[in-house]
Amino acid sequence: MDYKVLYRKYRPDDFSSIIGQDYMISILKNAIKKSQISHAYIFSGPRGTGKTSTAKVFAKAINCLNPTENGPCNACEACLNFKENADIIEMDAASNNGVDEIREIINNIKLAPTSSKYKVYIIDEVHMLSTSAFNALLLTLEEPPKHVVFILATTNIEAVPITILSRCQRFDFHKISLKDIINRLNYVVSKENIAIDPEALEEIAYISDGGLRDALSILDQLSSNTNKITIDDVISHFGSASKKQITDLYNCIITNNIDHFLNMMEEFKKLSIDYKLLIKKLLEKLEEEAINSKKEPNYQGLSYENIRSLAFELAQISNYININIDPYLLIQITILKYFHNTNEVKEIPKSEPKTIKEPQVHENIQEEPELKEEQPNINVNPSIDEKLINIRINNCFTNATKENLKKLQTMWEELINNADNNEILNLIVDTTVSAASDTYGILTSDFDETVSLINKNIYKIDDYFQEKMHLDYKFVALTKENWQKERNTYITNIKNKVEYKYIEEPKRPDEPQKEISNIEKTAYNLFDKEKIEIE
Ligand SMILES: [Zn+2]
Repeated sequence: MDYKVLYRKYRPDDFSSIIGQDYMISILKNAIKKSQISHAYIFSGPRGTGKTSTAKVFAKAINCLNPTENGPCNACEACLNFKENADIIEMDAASNNGVDEIREIINNIKLAPTSSKYKVYIIDEVHMLSTSAFNALLLTLEEPPKHVVFILATTNIEAVPITILSRCQRFDFHKISLKDIINRLNYVVSKENIAIDPEALEEIAYISDGGLRDALSILDQLSSNTNKITIDDVISHFGSASKKQITDLYNCIITNNIDHFLNMMEEFKKLSIDYKLLIKKLLEKLEEEAINSKKEPNYQGLSYENIRSLAFELAQISNYININIDPYLLIQITILKYFHNTNEVKEIPKSEPKTIKEPQVHENIQEEPELKEEQPNINVNPSIDEKLINIRINNCFTNATKENLKKLQTMWEELINNADNNEILNLIVDTTVSAASDTYGILTSDFDETVSLINKNIYKIDDYFQEKMHLDYKFVALTKENWQKERNTYITNIKNKVEYKYIEEPKRPDEPQKEISNIEKTAYNLFDKEKIEIE
């Protein structure tokens, strides 16, 4: 039986079947249409992304007698004889890195092509050439005969000498998207009648990490071993963790199920699951959860800050891995930080239907913010005082007007434009005033980091404003997103005639000693200091 491995069988024979490199293909098509063929190209990019296939289709297209919109017609004499064409010379520098092979190219290069328009030299993994071979190649690239086209391909563009690069038109091939690989795999399995679970097919696409050739090779191996490919086949053969396992692992954290977590990690290790792939998948899961945590009003998972810090910690793990360090050990320790110090296992929280929150009565603000039990107590920005933030928002709303807003916006702009303190300027430069009373202002920014830094330094900002604008204002910063939420609550409350009452701020930790006026001094001397209040 004439069995061909899938990636050879489904190798593109024209531009339309090259997957996921649309931009580069359009440039190459255009070059053919306008007959502007360069004498040297270099295709760089990860393995299995279509560099060699594109080189071959291009070589065929420029020699085709009736090129079409998709490149070669695959019907003319030149196309039909392409495989035997002596004018298409392929060389793999990974196995022939000697100068002799390049010399041979140089010697033959002057001879006109035997039967085609162009002689095409395709040199794969060109970065593997030896220095002397590069030098020889350079000589040819400087003044190639008109009938010669070089297509160099490499997975390591940094290793190609700049003198070579500068003589080539460069195309950077990128990893093929998951979606494109899934589509292609679906096409191949339907043509080949391969039975496979959709979940397994997705997992293959995932493992191949942007390389179509790898994806087809995996499909090949699995389809020869089993009647119907399942997710378990993929996972046990290729050391990957499934989507479901990643979700289970995340749920272990939020339910505080330490034992199950440890069992899972042990199992991963036993199956030699690729730790880099495991981290990659965990990061993707965390990204998904980070979005959920911001979008869902009753989100039950980790807090956004915890998701964020866990993601950063996981991402750094590969920096520490060497031959003596077990990556599983580090992953395990890192994730364990986000469990509680208790044996109690919770139910998996069900995501509750989205409900519209009752308008908050702002007197509640004076109560301590509730401690959410389901989140371990790791605070990335510990010095932000939630209570003060809420008080200031509330106080701003007691007397927020459009006139105040306009006035403060103008002053704020002036402050930014004339700021003479770089520390403050860096903090406030990305902010705008979104609400104002006659003594309070709400600042908004797109950046979480900015908001948290401003709130950490809020008294400094109050003082700076006072110093420059000679007006007593108290500020608070919110992300644009949180501001929208606060604003909506405010509007609902106003509609429901909920009144905002002024709340006294807690004392500033660095409360400056007020200068005492003469009258006050006299008064203090006459009466007990505790018993009088000066208006
Ligand atoms: Zn043709």
